[in-house]
Amino acid sequence: MVEGNDGDDGKGASSQPKDLPFPSSLCHLCAAPPRYVTTDKGNVFIQCPVLKRYPPQPVRSCEAFTPMSG
Ligand code: SF4
Repeated sequence: MVEGNDGDDGKGASSQPKDLPFPSSLCHLCAAPPRYVTTDKGNVFIQCPVLKRYPPQPVRSCEAFTPMSG
């Protein structure tokens, strides 16, 4: 089994960017964890690895939400 690729294809995806999009979004508090995808134009979208899509933001409630520990 080949290790080293955990699904991050490097296309602008990252951990939390400096300026969070939709600061009130529940996703920022979620252990999913959400992926932050930055477009060439600098727009940041939140991709959910649980729902496998970009949920409409800001997410205010989510049945798949799991609080971050710590
Ligand atoms: S599970 Fe829900 S709250 Fe968590 S990242 Fe996905 S859409 Fe956001």
